[in-house]
Amino acid sequence: MTSQKSSGPACCSWCRDDERSIYMKRDGLCRSCYSISRELARAEAHWRQLPKNIHAKFNYMVAKRKKEIAQYEGQTCGDIDSRKPDGMDLEMEFRFLSRRLRGKEMFFGCANIFDWDFKPKQRKILLSFLVEMQRAYLRKVRYRVALTAVDLKDDEWQAYL
Ligand SMILES: [Zn+2]
Repeated sequence: MTSQKSSGPACCSWCRDDERSIYMKRDGLCRSCYSISRELARAEAHWRQLPKNIHAKFNYMVAKRKKEIAQYEGQTCGDIDSRKPDGMDLEMEFRFLSRRLRGKEMFFGCANIFDWDFKPKQRKILLSFLVEMQRAYLRKVRYRVALTAVDLKDDEWQAYL
């Protein structure tokens, strides 16, 4: 038995990208996330063999962080078809992307404009585009963030995205 929903195509349980097919059915992961899961398993096994080796520990922690970033991608970018975005959803996406790509937030405090001037279908199309851009960004920076934020606590590393 699987925990997949009955509606919609099955997607990776970590990144929740419905454009990627399931590569490893047993784990419900796409090829990319499966690769991370294998890297994590190898790194953890190596670290357990050599618990005092700093490189083994570092490699394990980087792989663990990569898994967390892939899962974060699923939480923030997944299940887009079932979402009914409001103005705040759009404002948050614009702010996320503009802060990271432009170094300055755009559309701060503009949620009402998106609510009043955009129809639900327009908001959905816009959100779909923005979420795909966020997904591309997260994949691009995954390794760098995993390296940079390797020793941070679980609630601190997201500041490095
Ligand atoms: Zn995946």
